[in-house]
Amino acid sequence: MRYISTRGAAPALEFDDVLLSGLGRDGGLYVPEAWPDLAPGAIAKLRGRSYVEIAATVMQPFLGGKIAAADFAAMVKDAYGTFRHQAVVPLKQIDHSLWLMELFHGPTLAFKDVALQLVGRLYDHVLKARKQRVTIVGATSGDTGSAALEACRDRDAIDIFILHPKGRVSDVQRRQMTTIPSANVFNIAVKGTFDDCQDMVKALFNDHAFRDRVNLSAVNSINWARVMAQIVYYVAGAVALGAPDRRIGFSVPSGNFGNVYAGYGARQMGLDIAPLIIGSNRNDILARFFNNAAMEITGVEPSLSPSMDIQVSSNLERLLFDLYNRDGAALAAAMSDFRKTGKLTAPRQTWGQVDKLFGAAALTDEQTIAAMRDLYRRTGELIDPHSAIGLAAAEAKRTDPETPIIALATAHPAKFPDAVERATGQRPALPEHLADLYDRPERMTVLPNDLNRVKEFVLAERHD
Ligand SMILES: *Cc1c(COP(=O)(O)O)cnc(C)c1O
Repeated sequence: MRYISTRGAAPALEFDDVLLSGLGRDGGLYVPEAWPDLAPGAIAKLRGRSYVEIAATVMQPFLGGKIAAADFAAMVKDAYGTFRHQAVVPLKQIDHSLWLMELFHGPTLAFKDVALQLVGRLYDHVLKARKQRVTIVGATSGDTGSAALEACRDRDAIDIFILHPKGRVSDVQRRQMTTIPSANVFNIAVKGTFDDCQDMVKALFNDHAFRDRVNLSAVNSINWARVMAQIVYYVAGAVALGAPDRRIGFSVPSGNFGNVYAGYGARQMGLDIAPLIIGSNRNDILARFFNNAAMEITGVEPSLSPSMDIQVSSNLERLLFDLYNRDGAALAAAMSDFRKTGKLTAPRQTWGQVDKLFGAAALTDEQTIAAMRDLYRRTGELIDPHSAIGLAAAEAKRTDPETPIIALATAHPAKFPDAVERATGQRPALPEHLADLYDRPERMTVLPNDLNRVKEFVLAERHD
């Protein structure tokens, strides 16, 4: 199994290199040269198996022999052992043909744990085999930071530094990061905005001397292994509801297009799924793309679903690669044009095929609140604003009422208690493992918005 860059000018890599490399040297994203085949016979064999068994089986071909099967199975078991539900990602039936898949039973209560809990272990494993260490530096406006810290804590080959804007993340979000007592975890509260934090991280990656000295790395949403780990729950959900004998639909609240691209991957592997429904908030560049065959940048505005407040969905490039018939040079030209003009029109010859595979709807904050309230009234269920967008998009855009549909629930309602309370009058409680979050000691370092001070801190604190 080899991976190639969407811009066609970086070397093809094997799984272990693609895991550690992130972005290609040509600025492209890595994708499999060919999708592994998941034939109906193989899908039927997954019936009745646990999530851990399905995960090990579905992901195995992506490793290309670079990680021993027994080691990988142990990592998968360990990663999903951190989830607080026996089914890992349980399905909850809403009505005769609509299900919610709860992807939020991991340590930080958001779906990012599903991929990151495994990716942290894969990183550690590959680095130890190579006798290397890395320094991971990232910026967060909330959710991603805690999921990355939980995934990398206590791993021998990793030091992780997460920058957040001081006083500008919620109390729950900050405490989820700052109460981790591990010696390889460093929280930096920057006296500045999220953009300041992100600019500093970019500057660190552009400082090649620093980058090489600390072996700088990132576990951001373009990392291939995250997509790979997310393919699993599409397969597991479809199998639970009758695949391969029955076609299943999915609806996905989307920001960076990472989650929904994994669904596209499952389809490319052979899983029979209905057109993937994409839910956006007011930052609706994806919905506009799928409805108009053209993408145009506008500003980002804050919404009730902050994890989807995104201007350009980075993982969309992986789908565009197929739209450009896997012609890396043509896509590179289109992306460079897009950067200049803020506009990209989908190629006409291929649009017809891809368009059939997706549907999209955008919701305002008011519609999001209404969706949360409506579900609560009908069923008594509390859901978070991101999950509500997926659910409402499913109901608005599904084409065949006889095909069962799974709406992916991406965050626990207690992660967004204010919005849930506004919609339903109920304030969701944190699950038991976080119930004492407010009593745990916090640990963070406050630094000025000054690149050199951040650099000095990383150099002084990292382990050799
Ligand atoms: C990150 C996130 C999303 C968006 O996922 P993408 O893969 O970026 O599309 C949706 N909901 C929640 C709760 C998230 O944390």
